[in-house]
Amino acid sequence: MLLKRFRKKKSAYHVALSKLRVQFAGAAGQVTGSRTVLEHASTRAYVDCGMYQGPRYISDRNYLPFAERADTIQAVFLTHAHVDHCGLLPLLVKRGFRGKIFCTKPTADLLEIVLPDAAGILKEDFKDLSKKFKRKHSIESPLYDTLDVEQTLKQVIPIAFGEEVTCGPFKTEYFRAGHILGAAGILVTTEKKNGESIQIYFSGDVGPSHPILHPKKENPPKADYYVLESTYGDRNHTKENPEEIIVEAVSRILHRKGMLIIPAFSIGRTQLILYLLYKMQEKKMIPELPIYLDSPMALRVTELYEMYKSEVNIPSKDFGFFAFLNSRRVTKVYHAEESKRLVETPGPGIIVSASGMCSGGRILFHLRSRIEDPRNMILFTGYQAEETLGRDILEGHARVSILGREYVVRASVAAIQSLSAHADFHDLLGYAGHFNYQLKKVFLNHGLDGPRQHLAKAIHEKYHFPVEIPSYLDTYYL
Ligand SMILES: [Zn+2]
Repeated sequence: MLLKRFRKKKSAYHVALSKLRVQFAGAAGQVTGSRTVLEHASTRAYVDCGMYQGPRYISDRNYLPFAERADTIQAVFLTHAHVDHCGLLPLLVKRGFRGKIFCTKPTADLLEIVLPDAAGILKEDFKDLSKKFKRKHSIESPLYDTLDVEQTLKQVIPIAFGEEVTCGPFKTEYFRAGHILGAAGILVTTEKKNGESIQIYFSGDVGPSHPILHPKKENPPKADYYVLESTYGDRNHTKENPEEIIVEAVSRILHRKGMLIIPAFSIGRTQLILYLLYKMQEKKMIPELPIYLDSPMALRVTELYEMYKSEVNIPSKDFGFFAFLNSRRVTKVYHAEESKRLVETPGPGIIVSASGMCSGGRILFHLRSRIEDPRNMILFTGYQAEETLGRDILEGHARVSILGREYVVRASVAAIQSLSAHADFHDLLGYAGHFNYQLKKVFLNHGLDGPRQHLAKAIHEKYHFPVEIPSYLDTYYL
């Protein structure tokens, strides 16, 4: 009797081994901290290894241990260089991961900018942790440092879109996702013991249907399973014309001789804003005001956008954009001293600086110096998360705290809502229409539960696909 039971257990174990194990170890019910575990034929890999961002109760998750030992992971397949997808790679390395990190060439170059910056963020984050939290989790230093970043970068293997790469039982191919420079969706193929192959496609973050600057996303390839992001699973982007908002903003500061301050994310958004400003100046929609690009990180990323021209979607009539970036029309502010001088520079002019949510970086010095002057204007270009200075200003707080001091908000405030690098609900539903109709299941990941449920219902009703909403650490054997 005992032997029989043992045999039964053993065979169930072998069935599990012969299947592909998928575990949603991050971003299940969240929009940051993306990480999925793949396991087959004794090989373990991650798809993404992202940092949790946002309020303390979310970012504290970065300090929790991974479920599996880092030295048992053989590879990481990385979709793109946003920190919520790649930001914990150096921690994985610090804990013993010595495998390869496969990503596209532009992503590999972006990692050299993003990961040292992430180490800086974690250094600050460490100072914010409560003594109680540090004691409870035995935290004595920041999660990782620049030495861990250096080692991580040595393990990166850049690959081309469309190139097939084999790692153990996993064969992968990267497809353009239309999200930021280098962003990819990844098709993973693996052979089962019976000779059948199984294909699972990870969308990564999906770009909008009508992107400006970035190339259009490729249609998803044929697969048995799809893991689809769902950040905007219940919302459509505002149908507004960003050019109209910029014209209005520029005419306002021009008239008053003020500064237009544009907080912008360093990857993608800054370059998009510069491209819009270039086109509008060329069309004489706005005058040729001085434009200042004041963010060391955004400056380096902009150089990569120039380097990877073929990965940027600009019509040939607008190729002058790259010359514009290197002309006197754009002042690149590299050094801290120059940035300090810019704080005192009189308007009219346009300052593009980071961070996009005003949660750090040089933008804080420009806001501190100009927010109390009604001649100036602050123009937001993206989502402002809760508990950020950007959210406070955008919500119309009369007073805000900047670098430890309170300031009265007298500058005008406006926002462009339509420049998201993500597909909205309508785009995601259309994208799912390209899935293989013989698919076995769609998993919705990288989204809050409300948007995931909304999108799941819509996909099921429209295409009759079985849709799953995995919870944190849910495991599937495919
Ligand atoms: Zn992203």
